[in-house]
Amino acid sequence: MQKTLEPNALTSGDTGHVLLGSLSRELRRHLLFTLGRDEIDSDPNYCFRAAAIAVRDRISRDWRSTREQVDAANSRRVHYLSLEFLLGRSLNNAVLNMDLDDDMREALQQLGVQWEEVVEQEQDAGLGNGGLGRLAACFLDSCANLQLPVAGYGIRYEYGMFHQLIEEGRQVEAPDHWLRDGNPWEIERPEDTKTIQMYGHTERYLDADGKPHSRWVGTHDILAVPYDMPIPGYRNGTINTLRLWKATATDAFDLNEFNAGSYTESVAEKNNAEQISMVLYPNDASENGKELRLKQQYFLVSASLQDVLADWVKNNGDDFTEFGKKNCFQLNDTHPACAVPELMRLLMDAHQLEWDEAWKITTECMAYTNHTLLPEALERWSVGLFGTLLPRVMEIVNEINERFLSYVAAEFPDDPELLKRVALIEEGHNPHIRMAYLSIVGSFSVNGVAQLHTDLLKSGLFSDFDRIYPGKINNKTNGVTQRRWLSHCNPALRDLLNESIGTKWEADLEEMTALVPLADDAEFRKRWRAVKLGNKNRLADYVQQHTGVDFPSDALFDVQVKRIHEYKRQLMNVLHVIHLYDRIRRGETAGMVPRCVLIGGKAAPGYHIAKLIVRLTNSVAEVINKDPLAKNWLRLVFFPNYRVSAMEVICPGTELSEQISTAGKEASGTGNMKFMMNGALTIGTLDGANIEIREKAGAENFFLFGLDAAEAVATRQNYDPNAIIAADPAISRVMELLESGQFNGNQPGVFGELTSGLRNPGDQWLTIADLRSFIDAQVKVAETYEDPELWDRMSILNTANSGWFSSDRTIQQYADEIWHVKPVGK
Ligand SMILES: *Cc1c(COP(=O)(O)O)cnc(C)c1O
Repeated sequence: MQKTLEPNALTSGDTGHVLLGSLSRELRRHLLFTLGRDEIDSDPNYCFRAAAIAVRDRISRDWRSTREQVDAANSRRVHYLSLEFLLGRSLNNAVLNMDLDDDMREALQQLGVQWEEVVEQEQDAGLGNGGLGRLAACFLDSCANLQLPVAGYGIRYEYGMFHQLIEEGRQVEAPDHWLRDGNPWEIERPEDTKTIQMYGHTERYLDADGKPHSRWVGTHDILAVPYDMPIPGYRNGTINTLRLWKATATDAFDLNEFNAGSYTESVAEKNNAEQISMVLYPNDASENGKELRLKQQYFLVSASLQDVLADWVKNNGDDFTEFGKKNCFQLNDTHPACAVPELMRLLMDAHQLEWDEAWKITTECMAYTNHTLLPEALERWSVGLFGTLLPRVMEIVNEINERFLSYVAAEFPDDPELLKRVALIEEGHNPHIRMAYLSIVGSFSVNGVAQLHTDLLKSGLFSDFDRIYPGKINNKTNGVTQRRWLSHCNPALRDLLNESIGTKWEADLEEMTALVPLADDAEFRKRWRAVKLGNKNRLADYVQQHTGVDFPSDALFDVQVKRIHEYKRQLMNVLHVIHLYDRIRRGETAGMVPRCVLIGGKAAPGYHIAKLIVRLTNSVAEVINKDPLAKNWLRLVFFPNYRVSAMEVICPGTELSEQISTAGKEASGTGNMKFMMNGALTIGTLDGANIEIREKAGAENFFLFGLDAAEAVATRQNYDPNAIIAADPAISRVMELLESGQFNGNQPGVFGELTSGLRNPGDQWLTIADLRSFIDAQVKVAETYEDPELWDRMSILNTANSGWFSSDRTIQQYADEIWHVKPVGK
C-alpha cells in the first residue's frame, strides 16, 4: 500500500547520492527551504509550488537516464520545431503519468489542503493559439508514451496567449504574464546558450586552400538561453524534453554602447533583445508579416539547429556524413521554415561543407507539416524585409530557388507557366518568399493533417509539387492524447472504463473497442448516463461561476469551443439559436428539447469580424437568458477565456459537439476528437477529420449536414443567399430578428456587417447555404435526445470507436512512415 520511495531509493552510484524522502516530507522541506516559508502552512499556492518541485525532483533521475539511453542508442532522433506549445497545466498530468496520484493526495491532506484546490493554482502554459499549438503538446506526450527519442523546441514567451475578458459583451485582451511567480517545471541551462546573428551584411573570402566561402559580418547579435521542461511518459520511465529559448542581450552588444559612453542607454537596449521572446503572436490561421515575428521564427530555428549541431560535433567531430540519417526536423507549419536555409548556412559557413553535400543532408532531415488550406494563412515574407534582417539566409534562399527552377525547367520543358507558379520567390514590384514552397522543396516529407485535407492539398494548393515530387505529400491524421483528454479530465469515466474493460486503453486507445458490446447493455448505459450527469453538473457549476448563467442538467448541453473564425461558423450556430428562440416565441415547441448552448473561444485582437461575432453571441445570450418565455427551453452563454484548463471541464460535460466549418476549410480539427472520446455526439459537416470520425463512429452515430467540399466549390459559382432566405420562412424570420435590431441593445446597426456578410453572394463561408440543412439536423438531434437509451448507445459507440484519434496512433505513423525512429528505453 505504501508506494512512497524509501529515502535511499534514488541513490545512484555514478551521479552522486541523491536522497528523497516521502512526498509528504519533501513537501514540507520545499515549503521551508526552497520557498522560504516561516512555517509549514496550507496556503494552496505555496503548496502547489512545493508539490510541483517535489514531482520534478522525482522526475530528475528518469530524465537523466532517458538522456543517457538516447545518447547510448545513437539512433535517429527527431527535433520537433514549433512556434507554439499549448501545454496547459502540468502538475495533474505529471502526477498521473508518474503514478503519484494517491501519495500526493495523502501528502497534501496531511498539510490540510485539498488536491483539487492545489491543482487549480497552476497557471496554464498558454504558449499557443489553438489547435496547432495543442497538437504539438499532445505529440510530445505521445512521443514520451511511445519512448521515442523526440525533443520539442520552442520559444519561452514571457507572455502567452492573452486572457480574454468580456466587458459589455465585447472581448477585451489582458496580458498573460504566466511566468510572474516563476515556472517550477523549467530548468535553465545557461551552458547551452547560443548566439543568434541578425542584420549586418555578407562577404566572400578565400580560405587557406584558396576555396571561396561566404561569411555574415557586422551583425547585431542576440543570445538564446535554453530552459528545459520535462515531458513524462506514461508510467514507463521515459522523460523527454521540451527546450524553450529565451532571448537576452549579449555582453558584447552592451559593450559597444559602453564605449560610446552611454551606460544607461546600453542597459535599456537589453529590452530590444529580450523583446524577441516577449510575447506570443495571437493570430490563429492568419499570417501578419511583422518583422518581430520573423525575428522570433529565425531565433527559434537558429538556436535549435545550432544546439543539435553542437551536440553532433561533440560526438562525431566534423564528420557530417551520417547527420541526415541520424536527425530529423519536423516543421510544425511554415513558422520554422527558415530551418531549410539556416541548416544550409550552418553546414556551409560554420562547417565548411559544399553546397551539394549540405543540400543532400538538409533534404534528408527536414519534414514539413501543413496545417491550412486558407490562402490568408500561407506565410510569405517580403524579400526586402527578409534580406535586411537575414542577408546571408536570403542569399541561400535565392540559390535554392535558382537551382530548383533549373531542375523544374529541365524536367518539365513543355510547361513554361509552371516555373512562375512554383517559384519560391513570387515576383512583382514587392517580391515575397513563399514559405510553404521553400518548405516543400527543402523537405523529404510534406504531410497534411486529415485525409480530406491531404487530398485537397494534392489536387489544389500543392498540385504542381505533387507532380514534381510524386509521393512526397502524405497524410497523417491528427490525434489527441487520451491521458490528458480522458484519464485526467474525466476521472469518473476513466474509473468506469477501468472497471469495465481494464486499463490498457490508457496506453493504447485501440483497446477501447472492448466497449462496443457494452453499448447494448442497459445496466452499463445507466452507469454511463450517471457519469455524464456528474460531468454535466461539474460543467454547470463552472458556467455558473464564470458567467452567472444557470445550466439545468436535464437539458441538452450543446457546445462549440474553438478559436473564433468565420470559417468555423460560430455565426451559423448563433443563427440556429435565434431560430430556436423564434420557435419558442411562436409557441412552436413541439419536438423541441431543452437546450443549453455554450460558445467559447478567443478572437485575434485585430480580427474585426470575429470580435463582432463574440459581441453578437453575448447580445443574443442576454436577450434570451432574461426572457421568461425561453426559461424552460433555451440558454445561451459565451464562455470567456477558453483555454486548455477550461476544455478539461467542458469536454467531459458536453453532449453535442458542434463541428460546423465550411467544408474544405478546416484542415483537421482536434477539438472534435476530444469530444468524441468523452462520449459527445457530433453534429458536423464533411470537413477535416469529421469525415474520419463519422467513418469510425458509424454514419448512424453522427449528425451530418451541409455541403461537402466539392459542392461548396460549385455553390460559390452562382451563390444567391438572398433567394435562399426569401424562400425559407424560418430563415427569413431569423434575419428579420437580427436586422430589426432585436439584439442590438441601443446601438442601431452594430451587427450590420454580419448580416450583410451573410447576404453577400461573395460570402466564402456559405453560411446561408448550409443553414436549412443545419436546422434540420438539429431537429434530428432533438428527436434522438428524447430517447435516452438510443442517445447513450450512440454516445458509448463514439467513445468505443475513438481509438484512431489517439495521438499515439498519429505519432506511431510519423515514427514509421516519416521519421523512421524506434523506441529507446526499458
Ligand atoms: C483542442 C483545442 C483547440 C482546437 O480546437 P478545434 O475545435 O480543433 O479548433 C483549441 N484550443 C484549445 C484550448 C484546445 O484545447
